[in-house]
Amino acid sequence: MTTILDGKKLRDEIFEELKGKIEKLSVKPSLAVILVGDNPSSKIYVNNKKKCAEKLGINSIVISYPADITEKELLNKIQELNDDKNITAILVQLPLPDHIDKFKVIDAISPKKDVDGLTPYNSGKLFAGEKPYVYPCTPKGILLMLDHYGIEIEGKHAVVIGRSNLVGKPVAQMLLNRNATVTLCHSKTKNLTEITKTADILISAVGKKVVGENMLKNNCVVIDVGIFRGENGKICGDVDFDKVAKTTSYISPVPGGVGPMTIASLMLNTFELATIE
Ligand code: NAP
Repeated sequence: MTTILDGKKLRDEIFEELKGKIEKLSVKPSLAVILVGDNPSSKIYVNNKKKCAEKLGINSIVISYPADITEKELLNKIQELNDDKNITAILVQLPLPDHIDKFKVIDAISPKKDVDGLTPYNSGKLFAGEKPYVYPCTPKGILLMLDHYGIEIEGKHAVVIGRSNLVGKPVAQMLLNRNATVTLCHSKTKNLTEITKTADILISAVGKKVVGENMLKNNCVVIDVGIFRGENGKICGDVDFDKVAKTTSYISPVPGGVGPMTIASLMLNTFELATIE
């Protein structure tokens, strides 16, 4: 029997503990979220983040710009937020419109306010095996979930599908830093199934149905990061859950797995940045 990795339950436990810690702070954390354009999914994500923050006693402001804002204006705003002592965390909601260089924008955020852990300083620390101010939210959420369920990482073969800067690369590095043997796969990987069949832990962060029946050995731990609308319009993940879950030891569902853990990590990161000495 497989165990379902319940991200919602764990998120609620994390929130409960975090709320108490935030109440004890003399100065409340303040999260500034920048939203550019009117991508409907981005709007939903930003609203959810604001609601969660407020529930936990975190001040939250959303700064919205039209899609035609110039890169210079956006960079100026980030500089202003970096200098603002009342703001302890900054998040730029991705994706950004094509005329804006997202790397320049991320690079402009002060590493001490970089709540997504994506600046070159924080990702450099992570990739050097040192401690960044905070870890990227989705990878951090995945590791919290593995640890909470007592899933061993050291010495295990972890296969990560997807190599984005947001999820695939940092989660692979975090697993490597925890002494897993890591294989990182992507769209040009040949014989994906030959590789996934050797996984003790499989993490899929693609955004398409890529993990099906007969691709895994028995008792594999499966973490499904993907989230997209399937043909029937329903939210689904990368993994063919019903078939794959028959042979796994642990598996995360979509929705209700990694998604809630990402938001939990965002709130944890906001708290951690507010308490930097
Ligand atoms: P991304 O930047 O689009 O990266 C997707 C990765 O998948 C790329 O590395 C790509 O390879 C790889 N890929 C594409 N087709 C493949 C195939 N057929 N076989 C193997 N690899 C393939 O996406 P992302 O930002 O990492 O997000 C991935 C998914 O996770 C999306 O569904 C996103 O919505 C979801 N997500 C969920 C959360 C959450 O909190 N639940 C958070 C973040 C993202 P190449 O590099 O070769 O193109």
